[in-house]
Amino acid sequence: MVELSPEVKAQLEEQKKQCVFCKILNGEIAAKKVYEDKVMIGVLDINPAAKGHMLLLPKEHYPILPFMPPANFVHMFGLMPNLINALRNAMVCSGARVFIANGGAAGQQSSHFLVHMIPGDKGDGFNYFSFDKLGLVDDNKFKQFNQVMENNLPVMMRKHFQQMPNNWFKGKPGNADFLADIKMKQQVLYEDEKVLCVAHDNALTVGHYVVYSNEERSDIEKLDVESSAHMFYVASYCANAVFQGLGAHATNIIMKTGTCSDNAEGRLCIHVLPRYGNDGLDLLWKPMENKGNLDDIASRIRDQMFEVEHSQKEVRKVETLDLDAKELHKISDSKDVDVKTESAKDEIEEALKKYRGE
Ligand SMILES: [Zn+2]
Repeated sequence: MVELSPEVKAQLEEQKKQCVFCKILNGEIAAKKVYEDKVMIGVLDINPAAKGHMLLLPKEHYPILPFMPPANFVHMFGLMPNLINALRNAMVCSGARVFIANGGAAGQQSSHFLVHMIPGDKGDGFNYFSFDKLGLVDDNKFKQFNQVMENNLPVMMRKHFQQMPNNWFKGKPGNADFLADIKMKQQVLYEDEKVLCVAHDNALTVGHYVVYSNEERSDIEKLDVESSAHMFYVASYCANAVFQGLGAHATNIIMKTGTCSDNAEGRLCIHVLPRYGNDGLDLLWKPMENKGNLDDIASRIRDQMFEVEHSQKEVRKVETLDLDAKELHKISDSKDVDVKTESAKDEIEEALKKYRGE
């Protein structure tokens, strides 16, 4: 676990007292619960972007994703295929999105880190994550930072593999046919057996990156625990790197799976975006006007989640890897890369300041 200074600990305690989601977790505030295990709960969003929009809340209060210890990270994101599968079955839809905001400038609205899961369908009109507009990106700055990432990401991933050993990494990039067009058009920043990470060709901003799976073109449901967690790990390292390297105020991590309005090609992908106050990017949805019957929706999702709650043997095996989370923060300390370096503790305090908008 990350070591926090007494000041940061005190700030976190203050945050927890005010936190609506901690109050939901301890039963002080009612919510429509649809899922629970020992690490997290799922509740319906009361202002849904789409029918079945739910929130995954870690039971611990973490202000942003980098505070989450590796065991819980692997648990939450390793289960994503099962959770998305259950949600899609409940809502009978062709796709889904996962939205994560680290920091206010990215649209984080509570001090409790959480994950939005938003069902999606072909032609559902939800186009907030299309990323098809040409960004006003300075080409030179874009390329310059891509180079920093191309040097840095493999170093970060090597350290990650030292900390969390596995039996699949041999350093041989996957060669998925369905990614050939992407590899041809876009700058590759990192690849291994399981993932491909590229600079987005329609970047909204410098540091807009995309992680694809080398194993599956469309549906996260087809990935196993390790592959799903790994995709999110690479996205999370990217987010930390752009946060520090570009001095961003916040970051978004947005996964799309299956076919939706904003994913017409139905590609499984995770976008990473650095965010700044007033950056003009509009990624926040308007709540639905006709929410439908929330009790009915909750009960449908709960029925499908039952099996996920009761089939977690495989996840527990991975969970025993309780490793030093400091590395999650110390992502840019390699000497050959021109990225700001700070100690893990400073980074956390810095993140908290940015998070509070100071
Ligand atoms: Zn909380």
